[in-house]
Amino acid sequence: MQEYQALARKYRPHILADLVGQDVLVDTITNAIAQNRIHHAFLFTGTRGVGKTTTARIIALSLNCIGENGEIHSPTATPCLKCTHCQQILAGNHPDVIEFDAASKTGIDSMREVIDSCMYPPIIARNKIYIIDENHQEILNLFFATTEIKKVPITITSRCQKFVLRNFETKTLSAHLMEIANKEGYKIEEKAIDLLAEMASGSARDGLSLLDQAISLSDDKNVTLNQVMKMLAVSERSITCNLFRGIIEQDCDKINQAINEISTSVADMQGVITDFLEIIVTGIRFLSYKGNNDNANAIILDTINALEGQINIQILLRMWQIALQTIDDLKIINNIVTLEVMIAKMMFSVRLPIPAEILQKLQLEAQETAEKLFSGSSAK
Ligand SMILES: [Zn+2]
Repeated sequence: MQEYQALARKYRPHILADLVGQDVLVDTITNAIAQNRIHHAFLFTGTRGVGKTTTARIIALSLNCIGENGEIHSPTATPCLKCTHCQQILAGNHPDVIEFDAASKTGIDSMREVIDSCMYPPIIARNKIYIIDENHQEILNLFFATTEIKKVPITITSRCQKFVLRNFETKTLSAHLMEIANKEGYKIEEKAIDLLAEMASGSARDGLSLLDQAISLSDDKNVTLNQVMKMLAVSERSITCNLFRGIIEQDCDKINQAINEISTSVADMQGVITDFLEIIVTGIRFLSYKGNNDNANAIILDTINALEGQINIQILLRMWQIALQTIDDLKIINNIVTLEVMIAKMMFSVRLPIPAEILQKLQLEAQETAEKLFSGSSAK
């Protein structure tokens, strides 16, 4: 039986054209390769799992591939992946492609080791390449040196060609995950894929490992939204957070989606209200006295942070009252309808101006009236 290979590994791109969602980078480097005008140092920045190391390895392949029959003599955007150089780079044991983790090698000695080894020309390949991963800083340096040591600015990143690797948009990531799921012969509900992509928050690697988990749940090559929700423990809590966001942002799509999810997967309306109260109090703590939210749930904190500038104490206090009232209402009608009424009340209350705004408006109007009167009397 063939050993199972993680999807993130199995589908790791090996040529530039396969890098999903990084169009600018792909175009720039592909053109540079075509014109054989490749920068001697690159700096890739971006959050985890967007493909910094993958991109660096792809460039290493492009620079050193000699083609299956040794017919390639200069950098190529389509490395063969079969020649000895490609094979060794893919296996991580090419003598001229040196990868190291700067986070663990910070000492002067290890830096000196690198600088010393830069003095020597590549052993077997056209180019000597250093891939310096600064994990903790979400930065990756890629230096490739021929024999020109002067061109290798180990410390001077200002001489690098810089690329900011963008986070995947959820839509792009969804499509990417769906494609891979299909290649693997799985049928996954679109909403399930969307949820996986959403949870991966822009990281292809995280998305693929979530997909790995999801397909391992399935015994008939079908994966449903419900299974994925269970797997992610997408509790009522994150649904409630989405609902909260929907209300604040007056986003009907978000609200409808949350209502659907609640009515299909949540039995206990009381639990939804309890989560709501927790979100509100986290927001109040955050806004009113910068209270300690260290123990607050991560999803709730994300929600509050994302809504900064759109929520204020008055709105939250109104929502608190409405949520409390809803607990009573649920004793009379314990189903989704009560929740829907709560949502309507909250949406309305969010739109109401706060006292300070009313006061400001009144003052402004009074001022305008006074000015009109004044200019009217002086004209006479
Ligand atoms: Zn090759």
